[in-house]
Amino acid sequence: MDYQKIIEDIYEAIRPYEKEGQQATYIPELAKVNPDQYGMHLCTTRGDSASLGAADTRFSIQSISKVLSLAMCLAIKGDDLWKKIGKEPSGTAFNSLVQLEHEQGIPRNPFINAGAIVMADILLTHLDNPEQDFLRFVRAVAGNDTIDYNREVAASERETGYLNAAIANLLKYHQTIENDIESVLHLYFLMCSIEMSCRELALAFMAFADHRREFNYDGIALTSSQVKRINAIMQTCGFYDEAGEFAYLVGLPGKSGVGGGIVAIYPQQYSVAVWSPRLNSKGNSVMGLKALELLTSETKESIF
Ligand code: GLU
Repeated sequence: MDYQKIIEDIYEAIRPYEKEGQQATYIPELAKVNPDQYGMHLCTTRGDSASLGAADTRFSIQSISKVLSLAMCLAIKGDDLWKKIGKEPSGTAFNSLVQLEHEQGIPRNPFINAGAIVMADILLTHLDNPEQDFLRFVRAVAGNDTIDYNREVAASERETGYLNAAIANLLKYHQTIENDIESVLHLYFLMCSIEMSCRELALAFMAFADHRREFNYDGIALTSSQVKRINAIMQTCGFYDEAGEFAYLVGLPGKSGVGGGIVAIYPQQYSVAVWSPRLNSKGNSVMGLKALELLTSETKESIF
């Protein structure tokens, strides 16, 4: 399969959409990003790769970090994790309060904000240096020691993060989180602020794409069955209230973030990351969704 040619053809085909959507502006630092950027990187389990555009430009991975927090929390807590967080698609916006109130402070899944805020609380409880430990884990998975938090983005999000603060308060009221609200939010926003490029994300997610390979990074170890289950949650919950649409159009497990990044895996074959900051009304990258839809249509490769 000539993935390089395929991703080049895809880019030409989706250019009519390049001005569609708007970047996330509710996080003031993200509003400063040039929205007219596009990058894609794909790497295969056989060691081939394909790259296009701004594939080496780092961007805010935002909710994509939730997959990495889930890996760390599953390694630490095992199935006990599911006492505090569900694993069903939410069908509501990623920052919705209504469902959380209705379900008495148990988030539907780890990939909505409420679920990820609970995971931040778990890391605070179980780790001596959660900030450093999480970053070390991400660097180890990606095989790259220069990956870092963007503290300006995290601080900027805290300043305007009223909804996330409301979610944390509701979680605290229901005793789903143990630590003080400010520390939990601080860690949550930091984790979201990690910056990576498409190439770095695709390489990092090879750890999930190839679940036959041993998952043990910086002492965080998962069984192949746990990795498989993380992929299942990406499939059912990875795209906010558009998870069904992504399964329908693309047919791969994946995760998006409001920085405009999307990462997806074709189990045992490849991992792919695409980035373009303009989002649709659900918070998913317009160009990213189109690119992945065409990728699985052109290659006839998907899990279905
Ligand atoms: N930090 C973002 C928030 O909490 C993450 C949202 C996302 O990427 O889905 O709103």
